[in-house]
Amino acid sequence: MATGGGSAGSRSESDRLYEIAKRYLPGGVSAAARFHPALGRPFFAARGEGSRLWDVDGREYIDLHMSFGAALLGHGHPAIRKAVQQALDLGILCAFELEYQAEVARKISEMVPCAEQVRFTGSGTETTWHAARTARAYTGRFKLVKFEGHFHGFSDVLGYSSWPPLAQAGPPDAPAKIPESAGMPPADADEVILLPWNDVDALERTLVAQGPEIAAVIMEPINYNSGGIMPLPGYLQAVRELTAKHGVVLIFDEILSGFRTGPSCAQGYFGVTPDMCTLGKCLAGGVALSAFAGRRDIMEACAPVGKAVHSGTFNAHPIGVLAASAFLDVVAEPSFWDEMKVKEDFFYPALRRVLADAGLAVWVQATGARFNLLFGLDREPTTYREAALCDRKMETRFYGAAIERGVYFHYSWHHGFSALHTRADLEQALDGIDGAARSIAST
Ligand code: PLP
Repeated sequence: MATGGGSAGSRSESDRLYEIAKRYLPGGVSAAARFHPALGRPFFAARGEGSRLWDVDGREYIDLHMSFGAALLGHGHPAIRKAVQQALDLGILCAFELEYQAEVARKISEMVPCAEQVRFTGSGTETTWHAARTARAYTGRFKLVKFEGHFHGFSDVLGYSSWPPLAQAGPPDAPAKIPESAGMPPADADEVILLPWNDVDALERTLVAQGPEIAAVIMEPINYNSGGIMPLPGYLQAVRELTAKHGVVLIFDEILSGFRTGPSCAQGYFGVTPDMCTLGKCLAGGVALSAFAGRRDIMEACAPVGKAVHSGTFNAHPIGVLAASAFLDVVAEPSFWDEMKVKEDFFYPALRRVLADAGLAVWVQATGARFNLLFGLDREPTTYREAALCDRKMETRFYGAAIERGVYFHYSWHHGFSALHTRADLEQALDGIDGAARSIAST
């Protein structure tokens, strides 16, 4: 329950900070997605602990955002704090190789099927961009296949049609390439082929017609970014066979799906091994670290063995690397996944019941520790276009009502809980969700 001074509606410390922030940060935010439409400003967090968040007005929340999934272990997990302290004690030695980079790469390689070799970067955006460059260098080809509704970060290379407005999206079997940002050079679009996902024929036709020009096919193996859409039975296997046949590098962007369903990520869960993958978000327990990984012969396209330059002052920063080492040790324990499964088995059916009892039509799509709330849908979506029919206005109202009741939902396609959410925390969240859903259903 929200406690403490201020209320979501009155002028508050949050409002005061927002006024100041708008003077110095464009839009008062450091990332566009931090603006919360239900609040009319960003959420100004004061601190987090475990499953909980406090805002600068002293209000307390059960967090169901968990930093876009970066905080899978919860806020301030003791193992991560200890690792960060260790990195501080080493003198924050960035831009050096330490013994830890290869050790963490080994741990990843032992867990993630495709990861014979690994390179570390900071953000997921950088990582998908470098994965694409490496695949291009390896194949000597330039075109990239991506899918409508799939998100791979903010680079000009892959920033097309992650969430195209349906009115502009074009025919379903030949979707229009809509840039996700102003300022993307139109010529770059020529290197991207946009296809509908979950459609084997569309991919086969494209590979037959343009295979010798295509470096890579990149996808989210679970499309959490557009409603948690799952691959249809046999789809990933068919993509695997087709890409291998045409000499095209298959990249699973596991920045969001990685470590949601188990230590071997979505590729292990589905039993389909791509040539490369990207990892990020939760990889370092909430500290900024991402990685791209893959088959040794492909990864050796990276300089200094090969000619694809991947370098940077902050690459494999020791704070992130040591935090990742601690994260990987935590998730290597089978009991970690048993406990997460207990939470899933309790929370998702209860969530569906609470929303239905309140009379709100919401499809709850849930896999592992992340879930999607698709307002107004009554069945599981299998394409972006089906998921995009959801009612985002109602969703925004719901988030506002939940926040007033002490449950923090970000305005995002996906939500989640952490390893530190207890049964009592989830029950408390369900109470707040119940109140929020009833208030929305009655107006
Ligand atoms: N790829 C996927 C699948 C993501 O979900 C995200 C972030 O949401 C990214 C790439 C970009 O990662 P970052 O926000 O760290 O740049």
